[in-house]
Amino acid sequence: MQLRRHPSANCECCGASLWFGLKDEGKGWKVVSECRNCWRDVLVQYLPSQNIDDEDEAYERAELMVQSG
Ligand SMILES: [Zn+2]
Repeated sequence: MQLRRHPSANCECCGASLWFGLKDEGKGWKVVSECRNCWRDVLVQYLPSQNIDDEDEAYERAELMVQSG
């Protein structure tokens, strides 16, 4: 899984930028975010593929999910 650096979300622990990525689960993606500074803040959410056309759109949705926590 390739992680992308989130443009605006920061770690609650240390304030460093969060990284996020998608793991294909067939009918959707697992959204994982982590801090590469303190490694404490790992968040997993689920993003259903319904109404999502391609991976670029999935990354846009994931970005919003990570943003809002
Ligand atoms: Zn951190």
